[in-house]
Amino acid sequence: MRLDVVTVFPEYLAPLRLALLGRAVDRGIVEVGIHDLRDWTHDVHRSVDDTPFGGGPGMVMRPTVWGEALDDLVPVPHPDTGDDDRPLLIVPTPAGRPFTQSDAHRYARRRHLLFACGRYEGIDQRVVDEASETMDVEEVSIGDYVLIGGEVAVLVIAEAVVRLLPGVLGNRRSHEEDSFSDGLLEGPSYTRPEVWRDRAVPEVLKSGNHARIDRWRRDQSLRRTAERRPELLARAELDTPDLALLAE
Ligand code: SAM
Repeated sequence: MRLDVVTVFPEYLAPLRLALLGRAVDRGIVEVGIHDLRDWTHDVHRSVDDTPFGGGPGMVMRPTVWGEALDDLVPVPHPDTGDDDRPLLIVPTPAGRPFTQSDAHRYARRRHLLFACGRYEGIDQRVVDEASETMDVEEVSIGDYVLIGGEVAVLVIAEAVVRLLPGVLGNRRSHEEDSFSDGLLEGPSYTRPEVWRDRAVPEVLKSGNHARIDRWRRDQSLRRTAERRPELLARAELDTPDLALLAE
């Protein structure tokens, strides 16, 4: 998979080359390109923003600069074969659709993701409107709060996607059993020592009885979801023992 990020703060994206993401890059599973939006400016101040039409506070990112950046970074379909390598353009914005684990799975199946990081009051809407005519574009939010820029949102999305790529996590089951994979939150986890500060690990986890352990984990997961994110239960697949537990 190839990830390209356009930003006015390229150094903000350094974590894309650290830890698991960095290992995925070293092993050739992911290729990363970080691009400074100011490279597409033509004035001495290398400015990327201007005052908003209609008035109001803050500045808006200029379509002219973004347009040139996307023209350079998005491959045109091959004139003879018609092969189309255009990426999925992801534009983080608090006004976007909420980014979820199922989006992460969908993005993980793409060959190329291109992220456009907004700053100030965001990017002139015409950039998204124009790009949408020739390529897939998604405006996504990572939560109901407002960040200063899109860079942190890109790190969040990239990390959620890259860990799903084959060969990135040591053990495939790690993400198959994560929160949201079955529509529920994951329950608690424990490791050695068996007793820590007078707190013992639940007996069932040391029983060696895998059926009982699975049932206990499922119950914990259901209880936690009911308590913290009850709205998720409406969409989860629940069987008779699940419903009995929730009715307790
Ligand atoms: N005026 C915009 C609004 O109210 O929708 C907020 C712009 S915000 C200060 C600047 C940039 O930060 C956005 O263009 C986007 O790239 C990023 N950003 C802020 N909050 C975000 C969120 N919750 N999810 C994704 N991106 C976000």
